[in-house]
Order: sequence, then C-alpha cells, then structure tokens
Amino acid sequence: MVQPHEPEFEQAYNEVASTLKASTLFKVHPEYEKALEIISIPERIIQFRVVWEDDKGQVQVNRGYRVQFNSALGPYKGGLRFHPSVNLSILKFLGFEQIFKNALTGEMIGGGKGGSDFDPKDKSDAEIRRFCYAFMSELAKHIGPDTDVPAGDIGVTGSVIAYLFGAYRKIRNEYTGVLTGKGWGTGSLVRPEATGYGLVYYVEQMIKHATNGKESFEGKTVAVSGSGNVAQYAALKAIQLGATVVSLSDSKGAIIAPSGITAAQIEEIGAGKLAFKSLEQIISSSSEAFSTKSAIKYIPGARPWVHAGKVDIALPCATQNEVSGEEAEHLLANGTKYVAEGSNMGSTQEAIDVFEASRVKGAGIWYAPGKASNAGGVAVSALEMAQNSHRIKWTFEEVDAKLKTIMVNCFNNCLETAKEYSVDTKEGFPSLVAGANIAGFVKVVSAM
Ligand code: GLU
Repeated sequence: MVQPHEPEFEQAYNEVASTLKASTLFKVHPEYEKALEIISIPERIIQFRVVWEDDKGQVQVNRGYRVQFNSALGPYKGGLRFHPSVNLSILKFLGFEQIFKNALTGEMIGGGKGGSDFDPKDKSDAEIRRFCYAFMSELAKHIGPDTDVPAGDIGVTGSVIAYLFGAYRKIRNEYTGVLTGKGWGTGSLVRPEATGYGLVYYVEQMIKHATNGKESFEGKTVAVSGSGNVAQYAALKAIQLGATVVSLSDSKGAIIAPSGITAAQIEEIGAGKLAFKSLEQIISSSSEAFSTKSAIKYIPGARPWVHAGKVDIALPCATQNEVSGEEAEHLLANGTKYVAEGSNMGSTQEAIDVFEASRVKGAGIWYAPGKASNAGGVAVSALEMAQNSHRIKWTFEEVDAKLKTIMVNCFNNCLETAKEYSVDTKEGFPSLVAGANIAGFVKVVSAM
C-alpha cells in the first residue's frame, strides 16, 4: 500500500536499512530481513486533538501524538517534543531511532516518541500549564509506568515535565515513575546533565581508542551547536575535561569564541534560554559573564561548522539534519577527527557519507550517530524508572558512575559489532554507525 511521503522517517529508516544490508548480518541471519520490515511499522500510533485556552480567554487547538513504536524490550520509552515543526514523519523518525538507542543503553526499555506542534516559546507559564493539562487529559489514557514512560525532548523542559506530571497524577490518582526527567524529589539526579555528559563520555572512548590511549579531551578544541540542555552540559563537561569550546548556536545564529566560551557564560546562557531569550540577546546583556564582549563574535543565521575555525571535535547538539554534506567536507578538510551527535539524526545522509568515506580511507573522521552517542539521556531516564520502582534515590556520584559505565559499554558494543559484521574495515577503522545500527537491531529483533 502506498504510504504518505514521510521524508524524515524515510531518511532514518534508509540509514539503518542501508548499513544492515551492507553488512554480513542478513547472510548470518536470513530471517532478520523480514524483521526489518516488521520493525519499521509502529506497534501503535495515537493521534489526538488538544484544545486549550490562552491568556485572553480564546480557544486554541493543537495536534498531539504518541508513537508507540516497539515494546519488545520493555515499556515504550522516549521523549515528548513540543515544537511547531512536529508532525508524524518527525515523530516516527525519532521513535524509530529511539528503539535502537534504548537497546544500546542495555536497559530494559522499548522505544517511543510523542509530542505536539504546540510552540512553548511565545507562551506564558499559565498557557503552558493549561496546554499540558489538556494534552495529558488524553495522553494519560495511553501511558503508565509499565506501559509507556514519556520524558522531555526539544521544548519540553523540566518545568513542562512538572506540569505534565502534575496533570497525570491528578487524572490517574497515582504516583509512579511516569514521567522521567522529574526535576524534583523523585527525579533522578544527573538527568538534566545526562545527554551532554554521556555524549562526552562516549567521545572520550572514541579518542582513547583512536589514539591507543594517548589522548583525551585535554587540549582539544570543540565546536558545539545548539544551546539547550544537551549543548550546555556537553560543553561544560568538555571544559571540565580540559577542552576549549569555541561555539554554540540557536535557531537564529551562532556565537564563536576562538579563545573559549567560559563555564560562567554557559550557565548564563542556560538561564537565558529557560526565559526563551535568543543567544544574541543573552550575550549582549550587561551581565558580568559577558563583560569581555570582544572575545565573542555573533554570526546571524549561521551554524558553527564553517565558522568555528579548526576544531578537533564537532558535537552537533541542536536538531535533526544540522550538518550538511558541504559542512562535513569543510570539517574533514579542516582536520576534525571526531564528530558525535548530541542531537537525533544531526547529520544529513550526505554528511554521513562524507564521514564514512573518510573512515574507509583510514585517516578520516570517527563519526558517532546520535542513537549511540546521545543515549545517556534516556539511559538515566531508565535509571530514574528503576529508582522510582524501588522507591529509592541514588546519589549524584552513583548515577554519574552508572551513566559512564553505560556509555563505555555502548561504545564497546558499537565497535565490536562493527568488527563482527562490517565488510569495509580492511584499511580504515570500524564504522560506529554500522555497529550502532546492527547492535541495536539484533538486540531488539532477537527479543521480538
Ligand atoms: N528525548 C531524549 C532522547 O532523544 C530522552 C528520552 C527519554 O529520556 O525518555 O533520547
């Protein structure tokens, strides 16, 4: 049957399918070819209408969704995205990626994703709260601690989770591990930091492996895109490990600081972003952190990749398709050695092709897809579910240590699986994309 054109989902599906088909997997397991067809169809999609009232007393309406993609390994797990661009193609791509990502964490969670085309950016707190109540009044019928456990994604910050959780608790009259990313009492420590920290822990392994343990983040130059939660904590962790972070960005432009963005500046950006301010507004404020203005350049309408200068490491942490083929060529030509996504599907297929072609030649770029390198967020969500079920709370150090172990295991799993099934590593190093896709796929499919 002909399906509607779903460009983002088709891109994500083709990326996974092409690496599986190029490997020896279907020769070793011919029965898995049918499983690819089965896994590409969500178990269930819920679509609903969200009617809410704005501050002027006017009725507003948005679309709500939850894609319950795969529950072979456990309850559906994945974030909610609130952004005007949200549609079924985007949520299916995110849900599809989430299946394999969640498998790569080693935790017992299935894959799902949801959200709405509601834009929290220009709304008051009261409007966001009313929207969340209306959204949850439908979603609550379909989720639960052993069924489906949403969390945040773009546009769904800790305070949005709080509104959604409050609504769920009232509607269902239960206090359980739905949702994760609770920024208070029963939330897990390290959850806000987890995606960014996990990304850096994953890249640490890439560097260690590529240099036989000789190098680390110490002394490296890093370009980061985005300025939300993932970008902020990736940048802070990289700085903590001795790197210089030379860029951040938002939908309106990029900031470039050749001598490095400071931790104090990143903290200020974090606070500004929660108040929906643009990077341009934040850096032109009269605050102490930005008193040395000359060191920071703002480029309207730009992404960092061609403006950040020579960088060792590039960390796309904004949104999907934020690195083009040309930008990938630029990074390669400028000597970038490591690219790892904090965002989901941060690189276009053209960019992945550039990275992967350079890998086969040997001296190219180590590229980690988001489904492996940004798995730390959902991994700590799974740790939050575990703590909630046990009604216990681990310390920051305990959760951080578990997160680190998960990311190290995830890297080793991608690397070893690539070695086992890939066919093109004669001269170059193993493909972490192929490794991530095959390892995630095999784990889920064998459970199915
Ligand atoms: N939205 C995050 C992701 O893309 C986290 C999901 C979660 O914690 O459930 O993986």
